[in-house]
Amino acid sequence: MTDLQREAPEKEIAMRGPIGGPRLLLRRLREVMAEPISPQERLDKIVIHIAANMVAEVCSVYVLRADGRLELFATEGLNREAVHLTTMRKGEGLVGLIAETAEPLALADAQHHPSFSYRPETGEEIYSSFLGVPILRGGITLGVLVVQNRVRRIYPDEEIEALQTTAMLLAEIVASGELQAIGLLDTEMALRRPLALKGVPIAEGVGLGHVVLHEPRVIVKQLVAEDVKAETERLEAAIDAVRQSIDQLIERGDVGPGEHREVLEAFRMFAYDRGWIRRLREAVATGLTAEAAVERVQSDARAKLQRQTDPYMRERLHDLDDLANRLLYQLAGRSFATAHADLPENAIIVARTMGPAALLDYDRSKLRGVVLEDAGASSHVAIVARALGIATVGEVTNVVGFVEPGDALIVDGTSGDVHIRPPQDIENAYAEKARLRARRQEQYHKLRDKAAVTKDGVKIELHVNAGLLVDLPHVEETGAASIGLFRTELQFMIVSQFPGMRQQQAFYKAAFDAVPGKPITFRTLDIGSDKVLPYMTKVEEENPALGWRAIRIGLDRPALLRMQLRALLRAGADREVRIMFPMIATVAEFETAKGLTEREVAYLKRHEYRLPSDLKLGAMVEVPAILWQLDEICARADFLSVGTNDLVQYLFAADRDNKRVAGRFDSLSAPVLRALKVVVEKARASKTPLTLCGEMAGKPIDALALLAIGYRSLSMSPASIGPVKAMILATDLEAVGKFVGDLIEAHDAAHSLRDELNRFAVAHRIPV
Ligand code: PEP
Ligand code: MG
Repeated sequence: MTDLQREAPEKEIAMRGPIGGPRLLLRRLREVMAEPISPQERLDKIVIHIAANMVAEVCSVYVLRADGRLELFATEGLNREAVHLTTMRKGEGLVGLIAETAEPLALADAQHHPSFSYRPETGEEIYSSFLGVPILRGGITLGVLVVQNRVRRIYPDEEIEALQTTAMLLAEIVASGELQAIGLLDTEMALRRPLALKGVPIAEGVGLGHVVLHEPRVIVKQLVAEDVKAETERLEAAIDAVRQSIDQLIERGDVGPGEHREVLEAFRMFAYDRGWIRRLREAVATGLTAEAAVERVQSDARAKLQRQTDPYMRERLHDLDDLANRLLYQLAGRSFATAHADLPENAIIVARTMGPAALLDYDRSKLRGVVLEDAGASSHVAIVARALGIATVGEVTNVVGFVEPGDALIVDGTSGDVHIRPPQDIENAYAEKARLRARRQEQYHKLRDKAAVTKDGVKIELHVNAGLLVDLPHVEETGAASIGLFRTELQFMIVSQFPGMRQQQAFYKAAFDAVPGKPITFRTLDIGSDKVLPYMTKVEEENPALGWRAIRIGLDRPALLRMQLRALLRAGADREVRIMFPMIATVAEFETAKGLTEREVAYLKRHEYRLPSDLKLGAMVEVPAILWQLDEICARADFLSVGTNDLVQYLFAADRDNKRVAGRFDSLSAPVLRALKVVVEKARASKTPLTLCGEMAGKPIDALALLAIGYRSLSMSPASIGPVKAMILATDLEAVGKFVGDLIEAHDAAHSLRDELNRFAVAHRIPV
């Protein structure tokens, strides 16, 4: 019998209760942690201390292995021969149940619980009462800690709480990796195992690198408090400070992007939530430091979050998690907003959520990828990620909880796959993929200064689509002729306030200066529908895509449109300025927009501002009605630009972002190509310059069809220029013109021409 067991003779149990309480236990365990002994000896000592302190005959530690089994790692009271021999699945027996639910379980009569499973090798049938708690870290279950008693007893809440606190210390031991070598199999622990997660693809590309947490976790080094009273005071002071800062943020109203008011209101609600505060206070009262108490409570919230499927509840648990983070930062005396000056090479940023400006703050040259918990494909950070060309995946549930800074991670922004701590074979496969991609990019780069001319000598103009200043350096790299579509709304979407005239002017001037000598076709604000400005009240509409958007808002709020036009004209003093209007549905709309522009020109002239050297006004062709007003619009517009993303969705009456219907119709089909051909014919007849700037222009096979029906100017994302140019250089335009012409005129035109066109491309060695 050890000294410890003598400390707690059985007769005294009923009278005295737990010996010395959790504080004494934590102090003892801290001493054990510091001893220079082997990991197994340390665990063995720990279970003895816990059993003695909790006045239990049994204390056992089960550790979750990478293969999903729980292995008995140490025990006091059960048969020691069973250590490293007894294993069970998650969900199997009481221990498995705790691992699965991540909830404590206290039973006075364990053997009659439906999940009880008998293990003869442990000799456990003589114990009636059972108390088990999960060993959690960052919400992830790493194992189970159990105490058992021979007599039937009801474990009071304080004991459950005390055991949970103790489990935190064990979590540190498991997470440190020192148990790795002593398990049954020389296998990794659950925490460090490889994980494959799936999210939503946001920005194409493959990124291999190492995790950088956007909001670095505060590492809690000291778990056990020296002085409980002082710790309680620290906790209270930190709670007060966090409450005050949230109150101030809300009162000031200067809520930045990504920190929407509702989120802060939710924070405020939780910051005053009595249950939350009580749990924190209780954790400190058991002898933890304030930081460790926050981590305890946060870990429970994370564990619940992982099992929560109700989106509303998930959101609330996320808020709690964020609030706990703020509290940890406060206790550590750090500011919540962190700088990332020491970004490692090959960084993969992992964040719950992130504003677009925050992403721009990172050093682009070191970023290999971004993984987000809460960001869809149309979020603002997604727009920036695409503009920067960084492989990005969104909506990856709880990824922040699964990674540690520095972990190896692979992001596949094309498929939405995220591999955490990937096994060697996966890493090799991806490294090969990345090498291939880089080689292809290099080949495209070699085409940079080559004119895009077909085999039969027809020159095709290639332009790029852009919208942010970060896009513009790509233009030089691609060798494109101009910016064929500058989506001005993107800049409006990533700032926190509506930009005034001077701000807009400065921005457009910076755009001009970034691409000297290359024209830019600015499209006026195309907001509404899915493009929402964070600071504008969202108008609820039954059918937003058919609603108040783009030029419709501009014409109903002419002051807005005029401000933008004035900013564009002033930024373009002495230069060629090209402006086009989105979603033109009638000739009258174009006339009115043109009239507003002319008024602005007259105003500038009157006030003796320098004017653009040349001004061209164009209309986008993206509303089907305009297809039957082409003669009239060609007579009035200086140029046309076809937006196939919208035009195709309206032609088929199928929402471009709705997955249920998006795959139902194909842009490479007779109706679409017939409609697009009419535009070419009318533009040619009236000598109106024509470009096509929808996504079709950037996909080689679609672009091949566009060339075939007569398009000679295409505008696309910078990454598409290389592949499209390679296609053009290999194409005999006359042959493909005849092939596609015949296909779309055939009366039995197939639902999609894609397969036939692909076969044609293969037969003619056209890379598509
Ligand atoms: C289009 O509709 O094809 C287009 C280019 O504009 P956006 O995708 O911005 O609506
Ligand atoms: Mg459009």
